[in-house]
Amino acid sequence: MPIEVLHCGVCHSDLHQVRDEWHDTQPTEFPCLPGHEIVGRVAAVGEHVVKFREGDLVGVGCMVDSCQHCESCEAGLEQYCVEMPTMTYNAPDRVTEQITFGGYSQSMVVREEFVLTIPDGLDPEAAAPILCAGVTMWSPMKHWKIGKGHKVGIAGIGGLGHMGVQIAKALGAEVTAITTSEEKRADVLVVSDEAAMQAAEKSLTHIIATIPFGYDTNAYLQLLALDGIMINCGALEPLQDGERAQAPDGFHLAMGRRTLAGSIIGGIEETQEVLDFCAEHDIAPEVQTLAMADINDAFTKMNDGEARYRYVIDMASFADVDAGAATKLDTPAK
Ligand SMILES: [Zn+2]
Ligand SMILES: [Zn+2]
Repeated sequence: MPIEVLHCGVCHSDLHQVRDEWHDTQPTEFPCLPGHEIVGRVAAVGEHVVKFREGDLVGVGCMVDSCQHCESCEAGLEQYCVEMPTMTYNAPDRVTEQITFGGYSQSMVVREEFVLTIPDGLDPEAAAPILCAGVTMWSPMKHWKIGKGHKVGIAGIGGLGHMGVQIAKALGAEVTAITTSEEKRADVLVVSDEAAMQAAEKSLTHIIATIPFGYDTNAYLQLLALDGIMINCGALEPLQDGERAQAPDGFHLAMGRRTLAGSIIGGIEETQEVLDFCAEHDIAPEVQTLAMADINDAFTKMNDGEARYRYVIDMASFADVDAGAATKLDTPAK
């Protein structure tokens, strides 16, 4: 089903992939066309399409296909497909065997099972980041049944984290934002503030970490109460930062019977759920509209933690791009 792309969010994964920073696990195939927070309109439907009609406002997230028959897929958890889901970009397409291209484009073709309905009441531009950032927060919150009575820390307040804070609050949890950035200090816990970190020890039932690079888990584990669970959703690399290399400390896990867990994006059903939930609870990411030609500048700002909080490309700006000049993404020298 062809989709005319209207908006595409800029996720830190796009930058990781473009810079080939996941070389050991998910090496980048160049040319690489990122983008997996896509909102657009159905341009046409074939005779086998049943869910959508031409002109529908739709979304595409991190996956465009999966085996559709394994235990994970049957459970609506295509992100854990045992035969690997087909990611929206930089993955071999199950039909054409070509490498998939993402949403930094004017149109794309996606099978309808992987297309979401954008509910009425959601601003189409603001809906884009829900398709990755939103569902990446939603999926672990549903899995660990976060709600009333829970004290949830969200570590890393960027595109994912600022959605996580809103969603956890709407689910009824008491939320603490945890950040390393002094500028985001108002009503948050700053990791470098030793006194505040000590005072917060053993206070949280859950921590959802969205930090996009390796980090020292121990500083966070100590914030968990008995049976507390820390879920890593951001860094897809060794958790400990090279400079501050410190593996998760067995003592911090054992004392308090704590769990260190992981979670990645969310299934298609969960993605529709979080879109509907955000529409119902009036939750929206804070977005900065971006022209396609300014993508490299946005990547730099995002990498430096300066995005507030999600850039979304307005695809109408594609027409202004000088092909071959400003369009080229900064990629590693090879
Ligand atoms: Zn993403
Ligand atoms: Zn599967």
